[in-house]
Amino acid sequence: MRIVLLGAPGSGKGTQARKLMADRNIPQISTGDMLRAAVAAGTSFGQQAKKIMEAGELVPDDIMLGIVSERLAEDDAADGFILDGFPRTEKQALDLDDLLDRRGQPLDSVVLMDVDFDILMKRLTGRRTCSLTGKLLNIYFSPQEELDACTDAGGELIQRDDDNEETISNRLEVYRSRTEALVEFYGATNKLKVVDAASSIDKVYERILKALAA
Ligand code: AMP
Repeated sequence: MRIVLLGAPGSGKGTQARKLMADRNIPQISTGDMLRAAVAAGTSFGQQAKKIMEAGELVPDDIMLGIVSERLAEDDAADGFILDGFPRTEKQALDLDDLLDRRGQPLDSVVLMDVDFDILMKRLTGRRTCSLTGKLLNIYFSPQEELDACTDAGGELIQRDDDNEETISNRLEVYRSRTEALVEFYGATNKLKVVDAASSIDKVYERILKALAA
């Protein structure tokens, strides 16, 4: 199954992609995670990407296409994949279509994860990762016991570099100006499924499975 998860920053794409990956045994291909790995590796590309990401801007399309096409050529993506965070511009969407057409493996579904702006803001400003377990938490929504479990065990609640308020506003603005047009782009195919993603992780996952089965 070849799926794109589309949605604003904070709509839960990564969380749901990981659940799908575990269930369907196909890889989650997160361009944000791949870029963060390049930043952590300290390559010269990583250093350039870091600046762009910290500003909440987009890495140029041709670079992103190169990264994604290489990743899609790996063996584990032969039977399907979940793209999380790509495409983000109309050019990326067109290039992805070309790439998949050449492989004779078009997309099956594009799931739009729909969440109101106010909720996105709280999800993003409150998002933390436990330094010990890697568990994703939220200071507004996670049960206090889960937050305490991390800090009591000596862990820290780490905030992503681009989850500060200024960068978040720009990321949401970039989503509106560059990515939202993809809703119409994919709406013109019969592949777009819109899912209300403002509920709990499990409830949203249930809706995604239902949409994919429809
Ligand atoms: P994410 O983890 O998906 O929110 O991505 C974090 C950041 O990585 C974004 O704000 C962009 O700066 C960059 N990025 C991730 N995916 C893409 C993409 N498809 N095109 C351009 N930039 C991207």
